[in-house]
Amino acid sequence: MPRQRGKAAIDRGRTRAIAAGLTALATFAIATPAAAQSTGGTSPGAPPSAAPRLSAPPPGVVVRPAPQLRTWRCVRECADAQTAATGALVRIRGRRLGRVYEVVFLGSESADDDVAAAPLRRKKHVVDVRVPLGAVGGPLLVADRDGLQSGPSATALAVQAPVALKVAGAAPTVEVQAQARRAFYDAARPAKVSYVVHGESPSTVVVELLRAKDSAVVARWDVGEVAPDTPQSVVWDGSAGTRVAATGRYVFRVSAVNPSGQRAVSAQAPQQAEPDPAAFQFLTHEFPIRGPHVYGTGSASFGGGRGHQGHDVFAACGTPLTAARGGVVQFKQYHSRAGHYIVIDGQRTGVDYAYMHLRQAALVKAGDRVRTGQLLGYVGDTGSASGCHLHFEMWTAPGWYDGGRPFDPLPSMVAWDKTS
Ligand SMILES: [Zn+2]
Repeated sequence: MPRQRGKAAIDRGRTRAIAAGLTALATFAIATPAAAQSTGGTSPGAPPSAAPRLSAPPPGVVVRPAPQLRTWRCVRECADAQTAATGALVRIRGRRLGRVYEVVFLGSESADDDVAAAPLRRKKHVVDVRVPLGAVGGPLLVADRDGLQSGPSATALAVQAPVALKVAGAAPTVEVQAQARRAFYDAARPAKVSYVVHGESPSTVVVELLRAKDSAVVARWDVGEVAPDTPQSVVWDGSAGTRVAATGRYVFRVSAVNPSGQRAVSAQAPQQAEPDPAAFQFLTHEFPIRGPHVYGTGSASFGGGRGHQGHDVFAACGTPLTAARGGVVQFKQYHSRAGHYIVIDGQRTGVDYAYMHLRQAALVKAGDRVRTGQLLGYVGDTGSASGCHLHFEMWTAPGWYDGGRPFDPLPSMVAWDKTS
């Protein structure tokens, strides 16, 4: 089945709508098409992908620009200013860095080798970060929690192979790194952990995924024998037994036992001063508008005194619209009132999600399997719409105009907006 894939940035959930809250006067960040689409995997100076021009933002918004990365250099445990191994300290200078959520080590053109690390320290003009395990040579960028990101750095980091210390008879040691700070259920890029076991001989490895709040083990991989100093990875599909795991913080734990019975376990110190590289946030949905937006009120609300079956969220025409939850496209149609719309049967939810007034026909078609965060189209005002907005509906099983009933999507949207 052909699958329309979103732009890399959108697949990867980098460019996110900001939390507008319920007030009409939200702080707004204008994601220009270039900012919204430029991303990890992009080499410095690469032209931005084509995207529709944005209309003027809705009234009542305050524009907040993206962080800027000006320069960076390796300052501790470095081979030289641009060359370092895992664990070295990199200092980034720029503007508006106070809200930086992650530093992305972009590696090569492909997004698959991107690794994002939490800053150790951040101030208005400076961010410190350690080179994460699994980072490969390439430029860096910084992104804030809302997905506003700098362009890629002009200079590329050269990653050195770490020097493995071999001490005879020593117990193995384990290094662990979650590939991203956030992972969305059913996204094109699932949660992934990279790890390396250091030691003299192969070790038997078990990887577990723990729910941070109570350390309950929600998934486990009996990896078997693993060669020393060889990078490994495990991917988690978001399942906890037969169900989808709840939104929240999770931690990968890697245990290794060598033939002498000596054991090493990662992630033993959640109270450590530095951000835990094995931890990440898991989210069951991603907020679908990737840019500045404001929630409608009154008649734009669910019900709205007029039998309004969804909630309207206003954003500039041309703002990328992505799947809040992956699933299968049930309908892609045009209607005189709804305009261009699309209905997606949410993966493992029973809920149908409807997106209306798209600027033009959706980029996916009926029957397509779409992923959480996948680009569906752009905010528009087709059909009967006063102002560019997304009309969003959620319907209970068995589905949209198929025996289900609509319910107020606002609490869900607000929750997704806060976390994604
Ligand atoms: Zn509406």
